[in-house]
Amino acid sequence: MILYKTEEEVQLIRESAEILGRAHGEVAKLVKPGVKTKDLDKVADEFIHDHGGEPSFKGYNGFPAALCISENEQVVHGFPSGYELKDGDIISIDCGVFYKGFHSDSAYTYPVGEISPETMSLLKATKESLYKGIEQAKFGNRMGDVSYAIQKHVEDRGYTVVRELVGHGLGRSLHESPEVPNYGKRGRGPKLQDGLVIAIEPMVNLGSRNIVQENDGWTIRTRDRKPSAHYEHTVAVFKDRTEVLTTHKYIEEVFKL
Ligand code: MG
Ligand code: MG
Repeated sequence: MILYKTEEEVQLIRESAEILGRAHGEVAKLVKPGVKTKDLDKVADEFIHDHGGEPSFKGYNGFPAALCISENEQVVHGFPSGYELKDGDIISIDCGVFYKGFHSDSAYTYPVGEISPETMSLLKATKESLYKGIEQAKFGNRMGDVSYAIQKHVEDRGYTVVRELVGHGLGRSLHESPEVPNYGKRGRGPKLQDGLVIAIEPMVNLGSRNIVQENDGWTIRTRDRKPSAHYEHTVAVFKDRTEVLTTHKYIEEVFKL
């Protein structure tokens, strides 16, 4: 069942998303070679708590941290660790905030130092595909229109879409109906209605779309160990407009590409 949100509920998600956006901005200041990923997690965790929120992921099905940090061939759900970022890495940083009863969720993939032009193009195409999906996330469209737009943008550029993991509705729970696949057919799937709040999150691979799960029970990586990118926004659909509730603004203020 899809739980459509009232204006008042969307306002609380907006507030949650503002804390989330700022937490991402604090993390962004530290993304550089030599930094341990667990130090990024500490900054996000403290910032969220200091602003009255809770990290949505910490304790979720036993997940141990505020951030999912996924390096290079890792797609999503990586753990912060003693791993030290090095020149040429990419890292996806995914974070959720729970505030006044509502979750927000967003992710961003960073180049660390100088990365190869090939990988930079992957990041660019993945971020663009997120916005292609958002463009189609409008009242009266169907989910398949969102999914198709993402898939087309990605595959036209020779990249592949991860299929086993999808975006999702969210609100009082971090993961609600409906699923938001990053591949699909136009005109199919649920109609997007007033008050729908979804996280759109393309996961895009440079090589094949196949993934495997590491033995830690969480980390997903590409089977061919080629890089993977991930960007995410929480979006609200209204009758007369669509609003991106989360923001990458605070990231992009400090992290000039
Ligand atoms: Mg996320
Ligand atoms: Mg998500």
